[in-house]
Amino acid sequence: MGRPETAKQALDALLVGNSNFVSGEPAHPRQDADLRRSLAESQRPFAALFGCADSRLSAEMIFDVGLGDLFVVRNAGQIIANTIIGSLEFAADYLGVPLILVLGHDSCGATKAAIDAHNHNFPPASEFVHHLVDRLAPTVAKSYQNGITDHDEITKAHVGDTIADLLSTSSYISERVAAGTLAVVGAHYRLSEGKVEIISTHGNIN
Ligand SMILES: [Zn+2]
Repeated sequence: MGRPETAKQALDALLVGNSNFVSGEPAHPRQDADLRRSLAESQRPFAALFGCADSRLSAEMIFDVGLGDLFVVRNAGQIIANTIIGSLEFAADYLGVPLILVLGHDSCGATKAAIDAHNHNFPPASEFVHHLVDRLAPTVAKSYQNGITDHDEITKAHVGDTIADLLSTSSYISERVAAGTLAVVGAHYRLSEGKVEIISTHGNIN
């Protein structure tokens, strides 16, 4: 495969890889020693992924890609932070990725903790775990106000809020999305099926 150059080509490549993974027939591409050595000098990934740190959301495995293909940034509950935005801007600017995929998943523990906190049922935790859970609180509160209490639906809403946060905070990214040179796509991963479902697109994806 040549490197995907457009957001559509990049998304198609990821979805083909995910289809391989879902069917249980991954190709495990681009993981050989020769490629490893050739990549040592520089990288040119075709997409950036910002996703939850959950151990079951292994980015290269679920998209059946290889070394040098994906620039991956993850934390628990995919919570936007300045360092995350800096990493994604780096991927778009210096590495030239045409696509940023923001990936949540069902049964997300971070979202569950935020729902429990909303319902005053969150056990004592460290200061920084509380900080992380607090960052999800606005999405949970807004969802409950709109009558949405389903765990996975709230996680999907959080992917939307994460992208809105990214676009409103990073003028670098939002300007390129508006210009059609960079796309941001929101997606939801189902743990059992291994399937990635696209839930929103921003920018030129045709
Ligand atoms: Zn999660």
